[in-house]
Amino acid sequence: MNPESDKPFTIIGAGLAGALLATLLAQRGRRVEVFEKRGDPRQRGYEGGRSINLALAERGLHALRAAGTADAVLRQAVMMRGRMVHFADGTQQLQRYGKDDSEVIWSVSRGELNIILIDAAEAAGATLHFDRRLGDVDFDARQATFIDDRDATAHTQAFDTLLGADGAGSALRAAINARCDLGERFEPLGHSYKELEIPPGEDGGFRIEPNALHIWPRGAYMCIALPNDERTFTVTLFLPNEALPNALGEAEVPSFATVRSGADARALFERDFADALPLIPQLERDFMRNPAGLLATLHLDRWHLDGRAVLLGDAAHAMVPFHGQGMNCAFEDCVALADHLDRESDLPAAFAAFEAERRPNALAIQTMALENYLEMRERVDDADYLLQRALELKLSERHPHRFVPRYAMVTFRRLPYATAFERGRIQRELLVEATRGRTSLDEIDWAWLDAEVGARLDRLEVEA
Ligand SMILES: Cc1cc2nc3c(=O)[nH]c(=O)nc-3n(C[C@H](O)[C@H](O)[C@H](O)COP(=O)(O)OP(=O)(O)OC[C@H]3O[C@@H](n4cnc5c(N)ncnc54)[C@H](O)[C@@H]3O)c2cc1C
Repeated sequence: MNPESDKPFTIIGAGLAGALLATLLAQRGRRVEVFEKRGDPRQRGYEGGRSINLALAERGLHALRAAGTADAVLRQAVMMRGRMVHFADGTQQLQRYGKDDSEVIWSVSRGELNIILIDAAEAAGATLHFDRRLGDVDFDARQATFIDDRDATAHTQAFDTLLGADGAGSALRAAINARCDLGERFEPLGHSYKELEIPPGEDGGFRIEPNALHIWPRGAYMCIALPNDERTFTVTLFLPNEALPNALGEAEVPSFATVRSGADARALFERDFADALPLIPQLERDFMRNPAGLLATLHLDRWHLDGRAVLLGDAAHAMVPFHGQGMNCAFEDCVALADHLDRESDLPAAFAAFEAERRPNALAIQTMALENYLEMRERVDDADYLLQRALELKLSERHPHRFVPRYAMVTFRRLPYATAFERGRIQRELLVEATRGRTSLDEIDWAWLDAEVGARLDRLEVEA
């Protein structure tokens, strides 16, 4: 036990990261209080606001296992074996994510997951306060003011240390920033998203292949669909915010500035997502009712204020959702922070070590998430890409301990994101060099390529 170990932690936000962190700390015997701006989802139903379902991968699962909640989560999850690509001509192709069913991702409901984690936090001994939105923080007096938005009453609370899991619009981040410059930079993507629903079929089953993440790539924009355990799919339409000329400068690419009404949405689907249109009977209603969500990347130079406050999850490093890793990364943060708090002798040192470990990794996955948007919407149906992917699979069979596809390093392994990013860069160079001017795997110079893999990529150790 270190000397700080009896001090209470005050977590801001009982979302995905806040509830998991509360569980992990309480299970280690720490005193934990959690303040959440929304009502208790177990009583009032889950007030969404963000995506309805999410892809859970190995990093997130590992953290859930550490908290003892993985089995409960997986019982409600739907396995996704790969991407089902819906081409513009109406054909489909399943592109497997991994070598077999040990390398899959899981579609989970945000609301159900959040409730499992809130229950786990309480069972571990954390105290949760709902309808408590962080307003002001007095870091000198160590007092925080929370607002109950139901009646606008303010409640003052003494704290020792604040742990900020209050998401991309973090009030704690704003409070720290007012005290010391965190070097905050928001980079909007320029694209937003809207959610639509594919209901169950007439027989009560899934209308399309359930064990896949469906993608309709269309160049500058796309749709995806993830399965839900109640036999529905949540479809997410990603479009630019503003009208853009297309690559030939002819017609403009559809955008939320031009696709504004339910009739516009129907026209867009008739033209570009024709096989999806009959699956979404309430297209107009969903389109008009659901708000367009903004997408952005958040960078900070610092994540903590000495030993008084630290940020994690989206509050520290919000990212675009195209690698399906924001939550997975936030969950990894929780395990890392709990470990540093166990190891380090004082809080400023623990927070500094946490930031030093996690900030480069957050930057790496933020960058890969942005790159993946281009890959998903433009490359998954392109011939060069398909040849490089076929070669990637072959190389991963020939050199399983050296050449691991970047997607697999991020999704099925737990090596640091920054390592996955750097190895991915080297692998991409090899793929481009080996396929240049070639159209099939038969033309590959294997002797040269095998030697280059050995020379450029160290053997990858298996994570504990
Ligand atoms: C469209 C979309 C799809 C996504 N898909 C995936 C995916 O497939 N896989 C994946 O891993 N990630 C995905 N993500 C990212 C993921 O949603 C986030 O990374 C994750 O929710 C971050 O968790 P968090 O706990 O840090 O923040 P949040 O989940 O945002 O939780 C923050 C919590 O803090 C509370 N709060 C906010 N302000 C205050 C305040 N002032 N006082 C008290 N409480 C407050 C909120 O009510 C909330 O409960 C997606 C994101 C989007 C937008």
